[in-house]
Amino acid sequence: SSSKPKLFFRKPRWPRMDSTPHHRKTNHNHNHNHNSKKKDKIVVIMGATGTGKSKLSIDLATRFRAEIINSDKMQVYNGLDITTNKIPLHQRCGITHHLLGEVDPVLQADFSPLDFRNLAGSVISDIVSRRKLPLIVGGSNSFVHALLVDRFDPDSNVFEPSSRSFPSSTLRYNCCFLWVDVSMRVLSEYLSLRVEDMFDSGMLDELTEFFSEFPGRSGLKKAIGIPEFENYFKKYPPRPRPPHGRGGDGGGGDPVRTEEAYMEAVREIKDNTCQLAKKQIGKIVRLKRAGWDLRRLDATEAFREVMSNSNVSGSEIWERQVLEPSVKIVKRFLEE
Ligand code: ATP
Repeated sequence: SSSKPKLFFRKPRWPRMDSTPHHRKTNHNHNHNHNSKKKDKIVVIMGATGTGKSKLSIDLATRFRAEIINSDKMQVYNGLDITTNKIPLHQRCGITHHLLGEVDPVLQADFSPLDFRNLAGSVISDIVSRRKLPLIVGGSNSFVHALLVDRFDPDSNVFEPSSRSFPSSTLRYNCCFLWVDVSMRVLSEYLSLRVEDMFDSGMLDELTEFFSEFPGRSGLKKAIGIPEFENYFKKYPPRPRPPHGRGGDGGGGDPVRTEEAYMEAVREIKDNTCQLAKKQIGKIVRLKRAGWDLRRLDATEAFREVMSNSNVSGSEIWERQVLEPSVKIVKRFLEE
């Protein structure tokens, strides 16, 4: 639309002041940028699950010559694309995504925050060396924290309420933080619809396949959907190729009971997704209190519009209340 800001930076305006060769490094605890003005600029999109981070990341990446680095601990693994909500290829608009489905869930089942710090740190160096903007997007705040703090201690959990250590606000990059927030009341309504949508898109087939292969040691076994369906598949062992229909794939059980077990598992998924969102918001608030300069963007209105069947287009509100302010914030950050 004509109201869209025209901010297509063909040539990035931010100078690359660092002259160190940016080949892949492994030890990022002693980054060359430490305590200097030459920290690389990166943009970080934070927010609970379902708040529209992926959408915002694409909208920004197409404007600022950026590449996206996924920071969702389940989406780093290969597999369960629907269950873990990976952005589908056709929605990526040709933007390069890193660490999205790249890790083998069985061979590297315990991909840790430290692993993420090292790998994503290398990817950032590589993106910066090509004079593009790294854009970190994902809901795992333990990953984001591990990646960004100047000194990372893998043995302390700064998010545990009882933890003595607090997140550090000394960061090894020059960060612009965008926090997409949606009121919990509206978000839980949306998440419930999203779960139904995921099942309409084939989530049950995906779960059936996962359980029929049963890799005992998979990094994905904690993904929301797997523990919730464990009982269901125990009662109704999966067949590799399920016939169509809800709950109809679970072996030869009583269809009514199958349906009940199915409904129960779906209800648990909805509940647990809301719990996850609440926990994620708690962690974000903790980071903000620790001094991270998070710029909060309230997307509640946009979500409300999308869910109500009014004539007002939700994406118009999204553009005005989320996208345009984000573009301004990032533009100013890159010009600093
Ligand atoms: P924690 O330290 O509690 O694991 P975190 O910040 O490292 O928190 P989160 O992203 O909040 O990581 O994920 C916590 C849990 O939420 C995961 O272990 C998983 O059960 C679930 N989860 C997170 N992201 C997804 C996803 N994309 N799909 C399915 N489940 C997810």
